[in-house]
Amino acid sequence: MIDKSKQYWSGDCAADIDEYLREYTELPDLEVKPVTCSCGSDCFTVLVDQDEGAVLLKCTHCAEEKFLLDSAEYWPSCQPKAGICRLCKNAEYNVRVGFVRDEEGRIQWIYMGNRCTDCGVLGSYVDWGVDSEISDELEQML
Ligand SMILES: [Zn+2]
Ligand SMILES: [Zn+2]
Repeated sequence: MIDKSKQYWSGDCAADIDEYLREYTELPDLEVKPVTCSCGSDCFTVLVDQDEGAVLLKCTHCAEEKFLLDSAEYWPSCQPKAGICRLCKNAEYNVRVGFVRDEEGRIQWIYMGNRCTDCGVLGSYVDWGVDSEISDELEQML
């Protein structure tokens, strides 16, 4: 459940990111997928470049790193910053991704949704348009 009573919306579980992103984007049918590490954990620290539109996640359980979708392509020119919760200064998040697709099903726009695992504050650090096609492989690596 999302708590909308305070200045920043917060959620008590990762699934609240879905609703948050749909409200944030004003797209009630937005497709949202969870991001999970191969170890099964869904808690990450995040490095984000808001200008380039690229995200590197690091699992706080097993320390495995992964790029979000096509982020690796742009990483060499990125100046990433660590995501720190604006409310509680925690640096661990649940992450989900919203997709806007064209008629052929190709991903056109990507929205990152994040939830602070400590205080629950919801946000979207970054969203970006997709230039080249996102392969099914990349999509399945979420
Ligand atoms: Zn892991
Ligand atoms: Zn927080």
